[in-house]
Amino acid sequence: VSHEVLLYVEGLTVSFDGFKALNDLNLYIDDGELRCLIGANGAGKTTLMDVITGKTQPYSGMAYFGQTHNLLNKNESDIATLGIGRKFQKPTVFEQHTVFENLELSLRMSKAILASIFYRMSSEQSDRIAEVLDIIGLSKQSNQLAGALSHGQKQWLEIGMLLVSDPRLLLVDEPVAGMTPQETEHTAELLTSLAGERTVVVVEHDMAFVRSIAKKVTVLHQGSVLAEGNMDEIQNNPDVIEVYLGES
Ligand code: ATP
Repeated sequence: VSHEVLLYVEGLTVSFDGFKALNDLNLYIDDGELRCLIGANGAGKTTLMDVITGKTQPYSGMAYFGQTHNLLNKNESDIATLGIGRKFQKPTVFEQHTVFENLELSLRMSKAILASIFYRMSSEQSDRIAEVLDIIGLSKQSNQLAGALSHGQKQWLEIGMLLVSDPRLLLVDEPVAGMTPQETEHTAELLTSLAGERTVVVVEHDMAFVRSIAKKVTVLHQGSVLAEGNMDEIQNNPDVIEVYLGES
């Protein structure tokens, strides 16, 4: 079975005052994959996400989404419109609004209809919100204020806020930082259930979590790909061993 590449990044270099945060980086992610990106602090993970989402423009290289969409020289909202959603590490839900309202607001913002006083949610949209509530496991909390949720629940709500607009690619930064073991387990189930139908890229430092979710892991080091493979391959890779033992 040949897989279709959804995210195609080649020769990407990003320099900050001569320092290469990304250095001739190549990355290919298949449609439907759940890929984990790991690497020490400063390896370039955030910079890579910034390029994919239009926050940073590279000095050289290319980045394509779904074969035909050039991601470079587009702004962040253009890229969101293409179907790329990004979840930052810290949850930024609207605390004074209910869980349902958070999802509704997100849906309206994604369609730029926030300001319309004539706006009424279609039954299709409210069905989508109900569906997302079910996916993220917060149906029972629908009418609860987001500010009253646990840390883990806020993270799931924020993933839900991306899901309402049905992105093809979800970029998720350190989803389990600060979570309880139970919350971490739920997050693993959530992210693995999202892959397949969509593509999920997770940046994470928690190696037990990475092992529990990813079939394929990419290790970044000094702005390039150091190794790629499943967790066992990564842990037995001589380059990875050398870098990690050398750095500790
Ligand atoms: P972490 O795990 O700490 O988030 P990371 O792998 O995401 O690390 P990046 O944030 O991509 O790493 O940073 C890569 C390198 O580029 C770091 O050395 C960082 O200091 C540098 N860098 C990132 N952004 C800028 C910037 N705007 N100006 C100058 N240097 C930057």
